[in-house]
Amino acid sequence: MDFNHPSSNSSMEKPKKLHAALLSSPGMGHLVPIIELGKRLVANHGFEATVFVLSSQASRAETEIIESAMTPKLLDIVELPAPDLTATGLSPDESVFARVAAMMREARHVLRSALMALEARPDVLIVDLFGTEHLCIGDELGIPKYVYIATSAWFLALLLHSPTLDKEVKGEYVDQTEPLEIPGCKPVRPEDVADPMLDRSGLQYRDFVRMAGEIPMGDGILLNVWEDLQTETLAALRNEESLGQVVNSPVYTVGPLIRPVRPAGLGKELLEWLDKQPSQSVLFVSFGSGGTLPAEQLVELAWGLELSRQRFIWVLRKPTAKSLDGSYFDVGKVDGGDELFSFLPDGFAVRTRDIGLILPSWAPQVEILSHPSMGGFLSHCGWNSTLESIVNGVPLITWPLYAEQRQNATLLVEEIGVAIRPKELPSKKIVGREEIEKLVRTIMMEKEGHMMRARVKDLKSSAEKAMTKGGTSFESLDKMKEDCKMRIHQIKKGH
Ligand code: UDP
Repeated sequence: MDFNHPSSNSSMEKPKKLHAALLSSPGMGHLVPIIELGKRLVANHGFEATVFVLSSQASRAETEIIESAMTPKLLDIVELPAPDLTATGLSPDESVFARVAAMMREARHVLRSALMALEARPDVLIVDLFGTEHLCIGDELGIPKYVYIATSAWFLALLLHSPTLDKEVKGEYVDQTEPLEIPGCKPVRPEDVADPMLDRSGLQYRDFVRMAGEIPMGDGILLNVWEDLQTETLAALRNEESLGQVVNSPVYTVGPLIRPVRPAGLGKELLEWLDKQPSQSVLFVSFGSGGTLPAEQLVELAWGLELSRQRFIWVLRKPTAKSLDGSYFDVGKVDGGDELFSFLPDGFAVRTRDIGLILPSWAPQVEILSHPSMGGFLSHCGWNSTLESIVNGVPLITWPLYAEQRQNATLLVEEIGVAIRPKELPSKKIVGREEIEKLVRTIMMEKEGHMMRARVKDLKSSAEKAMTKGGTSFESLDKMKEDCKMRIHQIKKGH
């Protein structure tokens, strides 16, 4: 069948439901929200969905996510091999951002063929940020296409404004003495810009600005937030005299879309340990799927936890000297237990055995955060982790490492008011044990921490409301569906 011509489908019985094809770029933080969006479209909005996944590696964590997404089976998942980048000449030391962008580019033929090989042509295409180069497949198929930005509205505002900043700002953004102005939004501290903006001569910067320019080619933008979380920024994105001029299409808030808790996800031992802890007494320490710390920082963190005398669960990874996203393409690979402990201060495990638990490399994060014993989350502030914390009413200590995490951290501390942070960014300077001790005690025991816990619990309720029928995110996906139908109709009529 020739999918280039919609009419070639006319002899087939028209599918009753709209079929969404969703493309996910490699990486756990991209895969999770795309799968959850697909499930949501199917479960609540009368779609069928196929998710195309560019597998970064057959990792345990990725397999786990895909398998759990299939029970119950709401959607189809097509796994495609991640392309080999050797022929591109891209250095293996190139940034994660540029490598993911290159993988998506190299995979265009494979992705296109996989889409064309579907039994029936999809009715709508949804790509993530790294998939904007594939929006043209939507045009080829004659179907509407949307971009799903699975992170904050403020990050989207900075991204969309980056081509303008590129023209107006001289020199490196990080060297600016004043915050970067974005129309209608809170300005961004130069040190908080996303990784690709740290070095304007870098390959990832070119990809970033290119993506910003491609987003408006879609028929709309989906954001993994809800209206009450970022009211002002959303207003700016929709205001035609402000950023709305650049967006030029509807912005749909669809979140918070996070992984559901799996009933037996914690396993017996972990569940027993958590059940023994008092309510809201445990700090969860984890740096997402890719985060790693320098050796010296691991030692300081261990001392800080021990000195705080608070209960904790720490997802521990081997330190890396090279980069803070050292395990991005090795996600869930279990580092050897004994070797891991050798990076910690002598006797740490023994001295903290009654209050702390160390889990090597990977943990059932959503399940842990949803346990009543959770009282705080020391997090790298990836957007999925951020949402998982809010949805479970857990305040945070922000520890941003890479990508757009510095901006997320500032949002949580300064605007949303559910987090505290070290005085200096952990990506710039080692945070010392005394400061860590103080941060942990503040979030877990002091008035400031209790106030944040109350605030995050309010947000939890507002998030739940947004996602239920009649709530803003629920209605937003219904509106997107109506928009889709209207566009399909227009395309058929040749407009
Ligand atoms: N995650 C997990 N266990 C871990 C580390 C991460 O289940 O030990 C999950 C986490 O719950 C989240 C995702 O992996 O859903 C990480 O996404 P996020 O956006 O927070 O950060 P990224 O990994 O993209 O930096």
